[in-house]
Amino acid sequence: MDCTHAQTLLDTYLDQELDAVRNSEVEEHLHGCARCSQSYQDRQVIRQSLKTESLYFKAPADLQKRIQRSVRQAAKAEAPVGWFSWSWIKIAAPMAAVALVVLMIVPYFVGPSSDELLTQEVVGSHIRSLMVNHLADVPSTDQHTVNPWFNGKLDFSPPVSDLASAGFPLVGGRLDYLNNRPVAALVYQRDNHVINVFVWPSDSSTQSSAPIKTRQGYHVVRWASSGMNFWAVSDLEQNQLAKFIDLLKSSAGNSPS
Ligand SMILES: [Zn+2]
Repeated sequence: MDCTHAQTLLDTYLDQELDAVRNSEVEEHLHGCARCSQSYQDRQVIRQSLKTESLYFKAPADLQKRIQRSVRQAAKAEAPVGWFSWSWIKIAAPMAAVALVVLMIVPYFVGPSSDELLTQEVVGSHIRSLMVNHLADVPSTDQHTVNPWFNGKLDFSPPVSDLASAGFPLVGGRLDYLNNRPVAALVYQRDNHVINVFVWPSDSSTQSSAPIKTRQGYHVVRWASSGMNFWAVSDLEQNQLAKFIDLLKSSAGNSPS
């Protein structure tokens, strides 16, 4: 090891931070080199004198307090005023963006409600019954013929009413499939308008009704009564359909079962 190299390593040697090999190399050089040995001793003297009380002193408590106070004030001046701040926006903006995307996407996954799906199903079934000339499996104007016809075909007995005297003659009945189950379709007529009334047992015995909906030009009304679900669909004028339903509801108790 030459002097130049030894000099560059002296401080590290003094701090005892050299690896074992380097440490012994420097030690060896210092033994054989008076100049570097002197440099080493000078450094040791400086180091010792820096540790004496005359050069090393603690900052007064007052200075410490003043520094802390001014640091706090500087931090306050930089801190955001009130709730509106850029640091809040940095957090809130991505969250708002995510919320917006969720609000936009979720309806596509959730899709229409089960009620709306059933409404579409009812309208579709009504249209099919008119299209394929398959209005009734049992064409009859007699409720006492239509009602027994469902025996053995359904696990319930649909209430069949005769409203001919009120201008809504029974045309017949047929089996249909709605809401994932076989249902009774009771067919009534008003002039040239066909009214399909779909009936199946309700899960609850509570009475309920929903406002008239219009889909593809057809009016759809649903209600529940006497443990049955009723869905009526027709292109009949709304007031006429409402009148028909009132008659049906009031005569339901008199129907054979
Ligand atoms: Zn040397």
